[in-house]
Amino acid sequence: MTNFIRLIARNRLAAFGGIMLVLLVLLCLITPWLPLDDPNITSPENRLKPPLSAGHLLGTDALGRDILSRLLWGTRVSLAVGIAASLVAAFFGSLIGIVAGYFGGRTDNTMMRGIDMLMAFPYILLALAIVAVLGPGLMNALYAIAIVNIPFFARNIRGVTVGIAHREFIDAARLSGKGHIRILASEILPNVLPVIVITMSTTVGWMILETAGLSFLGLGAQPPQADLGSMLGEGRRMMLNAPHVAVLPGLVIFLLVMSINLLGDGIRDALDPRLKSGALSRPAPFTHIRRRQVPPENGSAANALLDVQDLHTHFEVGRRTHRAVNGVSFTIRHNECLGLVGESGSGKSVTALSLLGLVASPPGVITEGRIALEGRDLLDLPHRSIRRIRGRNVAYVFQDPLSTLHPLFRVGHQLIEAIQQHQAIPRQEARELAVSLLDQVRIPNAERRADQYPHELSGGMRQRVGIAMALANNPQLIVADEPTTALDVTVQAQILALIQNLRETKGTSVLFITHDFGVVSQVCDRVAVMYAGRIVEIGPTADILDDPRHPYTQRLIDCVPRLGEPNNEPAAIPGLPPAADALPEGCAFADRCDLAEDACLRGDIALRATDSDRQVRCIKPLGLPTRQGVMQ
Ligand code: ADP
Ligand code: MG
Repeated sequence: MTNFIRLIARNRLAAFGGIMLVLLVLLCLITPWLPLDDPNITSPENRLKPPLSAGHLLGTDALGRDILSRLLWGTRVSLAVGIAASLVAAFFGSLIGIVAGYFGGRTDNTMMRGIDMLMAFPYILLALAIVAVLGPGLMNALYAIAIVNIPFFARNIRGVTVGIAHREFIDAARLSGKGHIRILASEILPNVLPVIVITMSTTVGWMILETAGLSFLGLGAQPPQADLGSMLGEGRRMMLNAPHVAVLPGLVIFLLVMSINLLGDGIRDALDPRLKSGALSRPAPFTHIRRRQVPPENGSAANALLDVQDLHTHFEVGRRTHRAVNGVSFTIRHNECLGLVGESGSGKSVTALSLLGLVASPPGVITEGRIALEGRDLLDLPHRSIRRIRGRNVAYVFQDPLSTLHPLFRVGHQLIEAIQQHQAIPRQEARELAVSLLDQVRIPNAERRADQYPHELSGGMRQRVGIAMALANNPQLIVADEPTTALDVTVQAQILALIQNLRETKGTSVLFITHDFGVVSQVCDRVAVMYAGRIVEIGPTADILDDPRHPYTQRLIDCVPRLGEPNNEPAAIPGLPPAADALPEGCAFADRCDLAEDACLRGDIALRATDSDRQVRCIKPLGLPTRQGVMQ
């Protein structure tokens, strides 16, 4: 709730609307106690006094009635009728919508055709017809406005209900023995309630306008009772000699409806779960960069394909800073496969996404570091150049193949789009290329599969489509973020073979992210072990597997079950990684490490070279003399 209010307050227009509305409503509430003239007492000798005359702050109307008093009483009436009408419309409309959407079939058909009949008339004409039948009067205007707005609610709510009526949690509720009424009340209603509130908040303003419209035509409030519409209607006749009589109620209608609509939009934005997580802002096309200093060029990595130095990527959420990547450095040579291993949440994906500025900003910010692709600092390049590199020089294979493919386009079409983005070739040729790519990733019947939609393919095939898309423009580097995690072992083996084959035939380099040491040993030349946003050990795969130096690496390797060795129980690592917004001083792994001592908890522990090609971030590396010279 406080979060909701904070979101509204942050939206300036909504906050403005909210404040205006509260002021107007307060004024209406205290009207009976204000020292005002009776709104209906006429005094012909005082007729048409201009504003600011003695005793009449806003002047008087044609019958000498005090306009300020009539305005306040009139606003009360208009607000009450508008809100009451939208409550009635929301209640009946939502009821019809929920019942029709939940039961479906004939119930749905009958109810919605009735609603369609109501919608076939222009709504103000329908309201006029209803009032004509019921007779003029404020209550009848209220009914008319409520009735013509029922279809609006019914259609909206039915749409949402249909979307959730067949979801698994509803089936589960049904299987647990709940009756229809209880399912409607406890499963469906809470899910559609935000939509009802949103629809209401955006229609109250309309309803007030419509009520005013009917009163303006003389069909709503009857003399001498004032409401904003009838005051406007009465003032219209003296627009030229006493404009204030009509302008003032017009102004109040404007302020009232505008403030309700501004607030309504704000409520809609704050309640919409899709907008909530993004804090009402769309991520920028490139991660924000706020580097105070740039590390100098790394001479020793001059001929590397990719050189990452001291990369820091943080998430700034409210007042907290989540340090997801915290000083990561590595290089990838031409035709090399570097594995990036670590538990979930250790910052692997954020590292990978940072390379081409794909971390969503806000909240992501790159605060330090240098990312050089063949010597060019990517963090210095304009967005246009980065777009050319994305997908052509460096391509990604994302973890979840279903959410990376567009559900409404055929996979062939999506591949062609990826190809034509970077290569100016005719569509027919691009299609042939797309089919051959699908062939390359061993999708059987590639020609036919290209014309299918993502949902028609199995998970493994979708992942292979993702890989085909990454290969589309012969990239120099493929960043594969857990490409095999969701797949069964046979498909995993095929995909690993495919990546291996690519490296042999095309000389592609690969950054292979995984949490599985088994996979690392199959495809990676070197491996970097990540923990809490930092690399704790890096070196050739075989050496690290044979002889890990960091206790964390050792524990990770021990977690891998070995076939044929039933006695070798995988050993879980006790405890949890530290939260990214509260990283401890010293070694982040210390509280889970058997070998930790006081020195591990102090200061910054550097990544130091133990051999020419191995580095470890530990003051007591396994199997090596410690810094103090004591053998382990
Ligand atoms: P993994 O190693 O499993 O790929 P990630 O790189 O996805 O881990 O995440 C690293 C850390 O960054 C995690 O602690 C995660 O909570 C944090 N993180 C990721 N995205 C966001 C975000 N949008 N806002 C705040 N924290 C985030
Ligand atoms: Mg990840």
